[in-house]
Amino acid sequence: VHALNRFLAQAKPSATYKVMDRVAARRSAGAQVISLCAGEPDFDTPGHVREAGIAAIRAGHTRYTQVAGLRALREAIAAKFQRENGLELDWRGTLVCSGGKQAIFNALAATLNEGDEVIMPAPYWVSYPEIVQLCGSKAITVACNAGNGFKLTPAALQAAITPRTRWLILNSPSNPTGAVYSRAELQALAEVLLAHPHVLVLSDDIYEHLIFDGLAFFTIAQVEPRLRERVLTMNGVSKAYAMTGWRIGFCTGPGWLIEAMEKLQGQQTSGACTISQHAALAALTGPQDFIQQSRTAFQRRRDMVVESLNQAPGLHCEVPQGAFYAFASCEGLIGKTTPGGTQLDTDEAVATALLGEAGVAAVHGSAFGLGPYLRVAYAIDDAALRGACEAIRHFCTRLA
Ligand code: PLP
Repeated sequence: VHALNRFLAQAKPSATYKVMDRVAARRSAGAQVISLCAGEPDFDTPGHVREAGIAAIRAGHTRYTQVAGLRALREAIAAKFQRENGLELDWRGTLVCSGGKQAIFNALAATLNEGDEVIMPAPYWVSYPEIVQLCGSKAITVACNAGNGFKLTPAALQAAITPRTRWLILNSPSNPTGAVYSRAELQALAEVLLAHPHVLVLSDDIYEHLIFDGLAFFTIAQVEPRLRERVLTMNGVSKAYAMTGWRIGFCTGPGWLIEAMEKLQGQQTSGACTISQHAALAALTGPQDFIQQSRTAFQRRRDMVVESLNQAPGLHCEVPQGAFYAFASCEGLIGKTTPGGTQLDTDEAVATALLGEAGVAAVHGSAFGLGPYLRVAYAIDDAALRGACEAIRHFCTRLA
């Protein structure tokens, strides 16, 4: 009798939250679990940023801001896009949102109509197809396998574009694979896009600063300025400054789109949390050494995880160049049986058995649109990570 919205009814709840619920259930049953599921840095928000939040409360900055955000923060965001991404812009071209996720949601909700198509390389971040579904549109997933570094090729993009294509979503460094697009790779995709002026591009740069081996970060609006008028460049403080709970994201794009997103936000959440905006301002304008420190820690953990997973029989993992995820093929485990008697038919079965029999939680790759894989998030301290890798290897060696 109480019918849900038909688009919501067909959307899937977040697969990563589902696994986290399983972890919580095991823990409350008394089991020891090491979770490699986290989508957030394990570090604390830098001290000066936390202090800025506290100072904002003390100073009485506890009222609404403008829908699009504090002017000072928008100026800092414009300066960030100029300094780090070579995008010339004015603070009016920016929008502050309640997390990068809201920027993505509002960009899509502001533009999509029923029947529209949104192209996304698979594996993809779990929320992209569901947000598209909530908008009544169609996610067009393009399989990108390990042979291509899990990256979209110009030919595959070309083949996926139709007259109904509204958006292409790019995410570099990628969740779940850690793949990073080079300048040349973005340029090649841009060449295809230049021939299809009806396609908008959402560049999800949330992992920008978590990039390893001295690699340079590029975003498509910077690489191909002729695309500027149809690219939404999205970023935020969640991953770069360990501020996931503060819920501040931001973006820049064509004026008509920023305006439409602001209109939507004005009837939805209004401006982002005022206290968090003051903290984000401190993050963007204060000392940046935290970024280098976390990058160093994540690179060290990446090296440990990749080496260790590749020593586990049945697992194989390429070296990811960014974010804090390793995406390991578990094809070699499929068809085997655990000591507990579970037959491993799918990557989800592998993840479930790993949790139940080894006390390690990881998310199955098929949740991100490519199986059989496991996404291993290495955003936990080195000692726990080493223990988890050891337990995974032990689990793999005992399969029959
Ligand atoms: N984009 C990707 C690829 C992510 O992994 C996440 C968080 O997990 C987000 C966007 C959203 O981040 P937030 O809403 O915390 O800014």
